Amino acid sequence: MLPLRKTYEIIAYAYEAGLHCPDCSVKRFPRLLESAHTWIEDHEGNAITPYTLGDAQEDDYCDDCRKPLDC
Ligand SMILES: [Zn+2]
Repeated sequence: MLPLRKTYEIIAYAYEAGLHCPDCSVKRFPRLLESAHTWIEDHEGNAITPYTLGDAQEDDYCDDCRKPLDC
């Protein structure tokens, strides 16, 4: 664990059976910018769940742009 990172830092969002980096998530769901820590749902009614550094696995990557999520 890197000492300067916070384990509750949001590094991605989980929706549509995948993980998506904040950039891609905001493009798809602009409301995330207004309410980053508020429960919102995707178009299918599934919750969009913040994914934090503390949840991260080594090989996580964005399902949209394929960017690794641990950076
Ligand atoms: Zn992405």
